[in-house]
Amino acid sequence: MKAPVRVAVTGAAGQIGYSLLFRIASGEMLGKDQPVILQLLDLPQAQNAVKGVMMELEDCAFPLLAGMVATDDPEVAFKDVQVALLVGARPRSKGMERKDLLAANAEIFTVQGRALNKVADRNVKVLVVGNPANTNAYIAMKSAPDLNPNNFTAMLRLDHNRALSQIAAKTGKAVADIEKLAVWGNHSPTMYADYRYATINGESVKTMINDHEWNRDVFLPTVGKRGAAIIEARGLSSAASAANAAIDHIRDWVLGTNGKWVTMGIPSDGSYGIPQEVMFGYPVTCENGQYKIVEGLEIDEFSRERINFTLAELEEERAGVAHLLG
Ligand code: NDP
Repeated sequence: MKAPVRVAVTGAAGQIGYSLLFRIASGEMLGKDQPVILQLLDLPQAQNAVKGVMMELEDCAFPLLAGMVATDDPEVAFKDVQVALLVGARPRSKGMERKDLLAANAEIFTVQGRALNKVADRNVKVLVVGNPANTNAYIAMKSAPDLNPNNFTAMLRLDHNRALSQIAAKTGKAVADIEKLAVWGNHSPTMYADYRYATINGESVKTMINDHEWNRDVFLPTVGKRGAAIIEARGLSSAASAANAAIDHIRDWVLGTNGKWVTMGIPSDGSYGIPQEVMFGYPVTCENGQYKIVEGLEIDEFSRERINFTLAELEEERAGVAHLLG
């Protein structure tokens, strides 16, 4: 039996947490032969609810679940963790302005970044799900100077998966056969899902669809506003699909993609003209626990415009928290 991997999940009592924890404990994220210890962080007032979730986890009798910790202290939750899923974040409440939301989250992610810096495994892989995910990941990264900045990532995988399913529906082909999709930028309606290089069984998706208006007026708005459409229909925000994307993101990062492209929000290394350190959605491949940006893609005029648009939003968010980062 392998040694257990310590996995931290914040916002463990929330609805994404409820869709996430059981799948991690059943081995869907790190492999069916990989025991895990769950280290659950939530606010003091949510501790009772976390206990209830832990009781249910116990009642599943998962063979791979080697232990659990519940706490409201980030330094306990992050102690020696090799994977950290930062899900809990401050939601926008009525009358709250964008800058207040950014500031409230900057506070949370500064504290959590510092705690990771202090107590986490030195190779911890961090995924930020809580919104604004890219900027929260940037803040955590900047607050953890002793950890490798490349180990801080933001979740763009839900946008990627949403785009895959829209393309499958449009072409009448199977999701599993779609390759080489890219999503650029921020996890927000400004993201740019780009199927110019995508193929289905080797055939070009762009040629198959051959409809620029559909791309601009239907596909991109549908993917971009999918979260809002789900709230409208369900009366609650998406949770199971967000948890699923988080699992896909970490599984692929840890176990590899066999050359397949996936999308991750990662600190820019300057590729494609994105300023260094901006937490940006890029197409990547993963191998041996490392991701690598897919290089050499041509960026046409429409794509450059969309990329600049989502970049401008990220730069604005980054400027909005700069004074809080010291
Ligand atoms: P959810 O579990 O539904 O969502 C958690 C976060 O994920 C939110 O910021 C949400 O953003 C974000 N998110 C990112 N992508 C998506 C997506 N596609 N669909 C839906 N959400 C997405 O929130 P709950 O309110 O149910 O639970 C939050 C938990 O976090 C609570 O238990 C709370 O106590 C805890 N919390 C913990 C903190 C801490 O440990 N320090 C700090 C703050 C909260 P959005 O709001 O934009 O939907």
